Amino acid sequence: MFESKKIFILGMARSGYEAAKLLSNYNNEILVTDMKEQDENLVKELESLNVKIVITDTPVELLDDTYDYVIKNPGIRYDHPVVLKANELNIKVINEVEMSYSFIDKDVNIIGITGSNGKTTTSNLIYEILKEEKDEVILGGNVGVPLSHFARDIKKGTYLVLEISDHQLCDMYDFKTNVSVLTNITPTHLDFHPSYEVYKSKKKKIFNNHTSSNYAIINSNDKESLNVTSDIKSTKIYYGNSNNNKCYCNDEGIYYDNKLIIKLSDILLKGKHNYENIMAAICACKIYNVSNESIINVLKKFKGVEHRLEYVCEYNGIKFYNDSKATNCVSTNIALASFNEPTILLLGGTDRGHSFYDLKDNMKNVKCVMCYGESKDRIEDFCKDLNIECYKFDTLKESMKKVSDVMGRGDVVLLSPACASWDQYKDFEVRGKEFKDLVKEITNE
Ligand code: ADP
Repeated sequence: MFESKKIFILGMARSGYEAAKLLSNYNNEILVTDMKEQDENLVKELESLNVKIVITDTPVELLDDTYDYVIKNPGIRYDHPVVLKANELNIKVINEVEMSYSFIDKDVNIIGITGSNGKTTTSNLIYEILKEEKDEVILGGNVGVPLSHFARDIKKGTYLVLEISDHQLCDMYDFKTNVSVLTNITPTHLDFHPSYEVYKSKKKKIFNNHTSSNYAIINSNDKESLNVTSDIKSTKIYYGNSNNNKCYCNDEGIYYDNKLIIKLSDILLKGKHNYENIMAAICACKIYNVSNESIINVLKKFKGVEHRLEYVCEYNGIKFYNDSKATNCVSTNIALASFNEPTILLLGGTDRGHSFYDLKDNMKNVKCVMCYGESKDRIEDFCKDLNIECYKFDTLKESMKKVSDVMGRGDVVLLSPACASWDQYKDFEVRGKEFKDLVKEITNE
């Protein structure tokens, strides 16, 4: 399919670079364009493979009807001049995952995961559970190394777990999974898609090309997911709260085929949203006959994806969680709703003028708040209004000193800052790592 063709790669980044490298093995004529100067070594390497690289603000001038394909970086919008011109010229616009798919052996088991929230957590859970029993399991897609880097080398029978974003689904046509998971659909990314309807139709593409021998794993708690999947051809497997689902969850535990698999108290991950991610993962893995033991093993040790309500450790009966990715009140509310224990909450960071009153309904278990960073004064005002004890500091480090004074057996210490990190950190990852270092300091005493 991608042999002796003329291919226009729009946007280099890591995926454009890997796509060009893969395609250069098949006598293709390849042009890579980008607006930004690229790493000199990578450019030299591609040029040595006869790939042409042009750094330009007006790549559209380079596109003409002699091209067979445009491979677009998923972050580039539909209304980009190159995409519009390609449509006019009837040139197929695809992305790197769609292209790489054609190089994957048809005996590879592809498990695709999409949804508005929970993709990374669910993908990682599926990967970890399958790894307990299967020899060849790979995690890729929206995370880690681009698929084109290793697509040709994936052995028959491998389990390929792919996290797929809606941006990626936009430009996929032939791509087909064996098992597709849709975690949920909420109105997000509406700055990218022309409407919510269009966004939903893109999510549905995770079931493209399915027949009844392929599986769709669907969250029955989510009406939008049920609507979107009403007419797909896949064999449907449902999970949710009601006990008529193949996999369901109640206050006791998680059940599959009406049998208890694991008690909630034995699972390290917390929160209703994570129980949904776990059910999705169980449904996907059960298709490949994994045992309950393997599922239990993983759920007893899986701490969550880093910085997303990640379990850090337990010390003297106090549990520490790092939710540094929570940069707004919606995410912090999800975190707060995940605990019944008295909670010491660390809040603060970049002040975008957003209201902290959105947290009000989930503050009932909060024992005290440590606030820090640019938004500390407004957080303090919010706590005063709610009559919640609040300690104010300049930094997370100082806040953690105070945490070690006030924490007690049975507490949860939660970094879920409801603010971006840029006032004091490069990004939320650096903030989360510092939190974990500070936890180590106070628990090693
Ligand atoms: P994604 O990869 O889709 O961004 P993640 O697994 O990285 O999702 O989780 C990111 C955040 O999304 C979490 O910290 C949590 O706040 C929220 N989240 C995760 N799973 C779910 C879910 N099933 N339903 C609702 N929100 C969720």
